[in-house]
Amino acid sequence: MNTQPPQFVFDNTYATQLEGYYVPWQGEAAPQPEIVALNRDLAEDLGLDAAALDSPEGAAIFSGSVAPEGATPLAQAYAGHQFGGFSQQLGDGRALLLGEVIDRNGNRRDIQLKGSGRTPFSRGGDGKAVLGPVLREYLIGEAMHALGIPTTRALAAVTTGEKIAREGMQPGAVLARVASSHLRVGTFQFFAARGEQDKVRTLADYAIARHYPDLADSPTKYLEFLKAVIDAQAALVAKWLHVGFVHGVMNTDNVTISGETIDYGPCAFVDAYDPNAVFSSIDQNGRYAFANQPGITQWNLARFAETLLALLDADEDNAVRIATNQINAFKPRCSAFWLDGMRRKIGLVSSEPGDADLANDALATMDGQSVDHTLFFRHLARAANGDTGPVLSLFDNAGQFSEWLPRWQDRLSRDPQTPESRVAAMDAVNPVYIPRNHMVEAALTAAWQDGNLAPFHDLLDVVKQPFTKRDGLDAYEGPATKDFGPYRTFCGT
Ligand code: AMP
Ligand code: MG
Repeated sequence: MNTQPPQFVFDNTYATQLEGYYVPWQGEAAPQPEIVALNRDLAEDLGLDAAALDSPEGAAIFSGSVAPEGATPLAQAYAGHQFGGFSQQLGDGRALLLGEVIDRNGNRRDIQLKGSGRTPFSRGGDGKAVLGPVLREYLIGEAMHALGIPTTRALAAVTTGEKIAREGMQPGAVLARVASSHLRVGTFQFFAARGEQDKVRTLADYAIARHYPDLADSPTKYLEFLKAVIDAQAALVAKWLHVGFVHGVMNTDNVTISGETIDYGPCAFVDAYDPNAVFSSIDQNGRYAFANQPGITQWNLARFAETLLALLDADEDNAVRIATNQINAFKPRCSAFWLDGMRRKIGLVSSEPGDADLANDALATMDGQSVDHTLFFRHLARAANGDTGPVLSLFDNAGQFSEWLPRWQDRLSRDPQTPESRVAAMDAVNPVYIPRNHMVEAALTAAWQDGNLAPFHDLLDVVKQPFTKRDGLDAYEGPATKDFGPYRTFCGT
């Protein structure tokens, strides 16, 4: 038994530098906190003692019942456009920022609890979270990280010993998560909407110092800041497209200034490629459908740019012109990131002008064919080595794909790689294991209905190494069978 109490070396800049941007708050005491998952590698990265955290004291901290020494727990204020409609006050309705630590690489990281009880921002909510959604965020976040996609990460999941009313009674849970910060587009909107320009400026300076420190001395630092956020978000959404990820709730309060994916709710990965894929039960109009994500990101960034107008130029017309230019630059930036990744997915290290068409046409061959997006690219590597059988077998009607194949092979003949190195490079960017919806559902249901966490931990182990095919994991590779039916996700708050 470890007797060393868990220790955190906090350095809380949000609390000390941004008074007025949050409410100091405490978590609610949980009746019986218990750790169900602890991310030991991440804990070590943060300079924490994983063994000390894996204890009743650690469970009490991660449930929000006890604030560790040096923490300055607080609920952050933010606003946001939700499905296009503006709410002037959202804020951490069930989350608490415990504080910031400096990780082993010298990077500042937030540790936040989600589900730790009501706060002044809770509105009608109960401030709680339940086990299924907490484990979903844990699992998908870790999968995204392993896929090389910027994301918040799960440090721990605890059950609280409570039963919470959702669809039926479910085990209460809290997620401890780590982010390079929890600054959101919505954080800027909160103060801009109140006309508190000084606060927007202070927030921008804080965000620049924290995320884009090289810009701090630039005479046009706010313009550079806007550009940097646009770039980070363009790179992010391109990466989502590469792996078939649908975030599901791209409200402006769920868009980070850092460019990390945040707030995994009704998210999912597509099995069959489908530009119109929507999983969230509340996204009736498909606002956040798979292929809409770049356009929505641009819209969200336009809302961000609006908050910075007064910082961009004293003359409003000028400011609008400057901001509009930057927002217009989003699409080509995003397309460039997308194409860069797509080239690698289809096995190219060189560039030719026709590559965007080639990549787009590859996707078009899959459209309406129920072709599994992940297997397509993984099998394409076999085709790069002469074995077209596996990829062809994914199609019911391979007509269009059979026309694409020789175009691609012709293009490969002008790309300077040996077949062996190309296959290795493709397999290093095209995952074999993603968190398949049916596997995620089975793991979460076993956890919250039966208290059986084994399927969750097994799936987590699989998706943490997405690019390396291993023996005995065939069940994790393919899409759901037809009887799984259309997949629906719920916000699950
Ligand atoms: P989300 O859908 O998680 O991005 O949350 C949107 C807003 O609703 C945020 O202000 C959350 O803090 C708040 N919220 C979500 N669920 C709850 C809950 N159970 N209790 C209180 N606030 C909540
Ligand atoms: Mg949110």
